[in-house]
Formats: sequence, structure tokens, C-alpha cells
Amino acid sequence: MKIRFVLFVYLATMTTCFSQTAMQVGIAKINITPTSTAFLTGYANRDKPAEGVLHDLWAKALVLSNKNEKMILVTTDLLGLSHQVSTEVAEKVKEKLGIERRQLLFNSSHTHSGPMIWPSLSVIAEYSPQDQKIVSAYTQVLVDKLIQVITDAYANQEPMQVFVGHTSADFAINRRALAAQKNGLSLPGPIDHDVPVLKIMNSAGEIKGVLFGYACHNTTLMGNNYLINGDYAGFAQLDIEKKIPTATAFFMLGCAGDQNPEPRGTVELAQKHGNSLGDQVVNLVHSSTLKPIKNEIQSYFSFIPLKFKKVPAADYQKDLQSSDKFIQRRAKLMLEAYNKGWNTDYYQYPVQGIRLGNEFRVIALGGEVVVDYSLRTKKKFPDKNIFVAGYSNEVMCYIPSERVLQEGGYEADSSMIYYGMPGPFEKGIEEKIMEAIHLTIKKIK
Ligand SMILES: [Zn+2]
Repeated sequence: MKIRFVLFVYLATMTTCFSQTAMQVGIAKINITPTSTAFLTGYANRDKPAEGVLHDLWAKALVLSNKNEKMILVTTDLLGLSHQVSTEVAEKVKEKLGIERRQLLFNSSHTHSGPMIWPSLSVIAEYSPQDQKIVSAYTQVLVDKLIQVITDAYANQEPMQVFVGHTSADFAINRRALAAQKNGLSLPGPIDHDVPVLKIMNSAGEIKGVLFGYACHNTTLMGNNYLINGDYAGFAQLDIEKKIPTATAFFMLGCAGDQNPEPRGTVELAQKHGNSLGDQVVNLVHSSTLKPIKNEIQSYFSFIPLKFKKVPAADYQKDLQSSDKFIQRRAKLMLEAYNKGWNTDYYQYPVQGIRLGNEFRVIALGGEVVVDYSLRTKKKFPDKNIFVAGYSNEVMCYIPSERVLQEGGYEADSSMIYYGMPGPFEKGIEEKIMEAIHLTIKKIK
């Protein structure tokens, strides 16, 4: 009798806690593996289509809502979305569901073993008109599938409790420092091994979703790989979904611009990194250290102009004679823009913030953001429990910090050629972005 009473009180308390803090949550996933010929992107040296599928690629949507506010997170096992794709999806989702741009966050895992999304990184691609058709067709299928997965998640919302916690994984290294070391030089090598985790549980106590983040390039596999897969993040999501079969696993990429997995080069290593990350996440999810998140949602989205360093048209004219075909192609693009009077002075850069209760915040930045932004933001706001995601909303190029810009090299300078950007960013980029992060945190207070 006594036991029954205690159990009743316990269950009643659980239900009260659950209903007080539960949000409406919807989860859906859709297979985005190309079904016909596909060209993998991320490495400039690849010269033939993919040769098969190691595991499927997914787009996943997580809808969080209460009576005042909504937020939709969409994760994709892709190199990155183009401005065109995320804008088109956002516009259609607004039409269909009334969702504002600030309420929609896209993040890509940056797998280098996924299909080209036109026109991201188009400078590295050398396609015949027939190949171009294939790439454009996949991009259109992707747009439709992203709208579909968002609509599905939106339709299947039910009360769920969201919990947050942190663990870590140690296979990310600072690749700039490693490269410098190999050349007998020395560069600072900041890293961020934090793994934020959200656990999403329904009223029956079933784990329906696990969202986790990490700041490391999905480049365990290299340019000699022609099998479609999500690299370590793909393996980590599979591992979590295998160990928690009721759950959909969502991966969000952090500020991984200068972070690589180490060691790298084989499928076995991609799986090993993925499983080690998956293990950490599953252990945390089954622990009692996660905190429930209060039912509050806020979001803010803005574009800020980031200036490029001025490059005279005469320099591009000279680049047309370069023996490097990528430099040539970039010069052609820039001279066309210049002669048509298009503005190549700055890029309209997306900065977004979301807050869930007082327990978790995400600052979502576009592009390949280097780790300095994550470390600086967390240091500046130690009590805000922030995850700084890069590769969000669109991936237009690398986003160096002031230090990286000054040091120069691939992430500061030469990568801009492959991304078809006018040249390196102007000094002051870090302060500009940090100002926008401050404002965003204020707005989502
Ligand atoms: Zn990259």
C-alpha cells in the first residue's frame, strides 16, 4: 500500500514536472542520398562521379514550439547549403507554415563525401553541360526534400521534455598548427573539444531525439574516396540511433574551420571517430547529469556586411594568364561582376541566435568559421551555456579570426579562390562578427 502511494506521488510529480517544462516537439528525417550519378564535393582533385554508397545521407528536422514561439532546426549530411538553397526553402516554408527566417536554422555537417550543391564551390567543378544538369537536378530535389522534412516534423509535434548536458571528444586537432609543425614552424593551435547534447524525451519516457555538436571538419576521408557517406558525423549518428533505436540523432557542426580529425585517411578511422563521439553522447544521455530545459524559446537573425580587401581589376586581368585553372576561373568571375557593376565589396553574412529556456543557447554563423569565435564567445559569456555553430544557413567561404587573417594561409586567403570570392576579408572582421554576436545574445535575452 505504502509503496503504491509513493509510486503514485512519484508519477504525479513526474507528470507535473513534465507538463510544466514540456515543449511541443516534432521530429522527422528524409533520405537525401543521390539516387543517380552524383559528383562528390569538398576536394578539388576529384575527377569522376561517386562509385557507390557507404551509408545514406539524411536531412533531419527538429521543431520546438510553445504557445508564443517556434524554432525549426534542420541538419544535413552535406558540405554546406548555398545561399540560394536556404533562401528558397525559407521562403517556401514561410508561405506554407508561416515560419519567419529567424525561426529556421540550417546546419551542415560539411562531409567531404557528399554531393555537390550548386553553386557552392562551383569554381572547383569542371562539368560538361550534361554533368551540370545532374548537379542542378539534385539541388532542386534537395530543396523539395528539405521543405518536405520540415513539413513532416511540423505535423507530428507532441509534448516532449528537452534536457541539456555536455561531454567531450578528443579527435579534433588544429590543422593549421599541425601543418606549420610539419614545415618546422610554429603557430597557435586552439581547439574546442566540447560536445553539447540535447536529449528529447516523450511523455512515456522514450528518447525520441538526441542532438549533439562538435567542432571538427568531416574530412577523415580524403579526395581519393568516391563512396557517398557522412564521414565521422554520419557514423556517430548511426551509432547513436543503433544504441537508442527510438531516437533520431541530429549532428550540428561547430566552429570547425581550422579543425581536422586526426588520424585520418580511411573508412575505419571515420567509423572509429564516429563511434567514439557516439559513445560519449550515449553515455551522457543515459546519465543523470542532464538538466531539463524550461519551456521558453527566443530567436534572432540578421545579415551583417563583411568587407573584402580591395583588389584592383588589373590584378584579376593578370590572373587570367595564370597557369592555375582555379585562379583563372575566379578572375573570370570577378571581371564579369566588375564589368556588370555588381558589388563585390562585401558579403551579407548571416548571424543567428536561439535560446531554449535559460539553459541553452546557439549562436549560428554562416561559413567555415574558425574555432577562435567559439572560444571567445564562450569566454565572454561563461554563464550562458552557448554552442557556437559554424556552417549554418549557408556556407559561402572560410571565416577567419583576426589572428588567422594576419597569419595568412589557406583559411585566410587561398581558399577564397576555390570559393570564388573576390579575395581575403578586410581587417576588422572578427570585431564585426563579435559585435553581431553580442547584439544577438542581447536580442534573445
Ligand atoms: Zn572546409
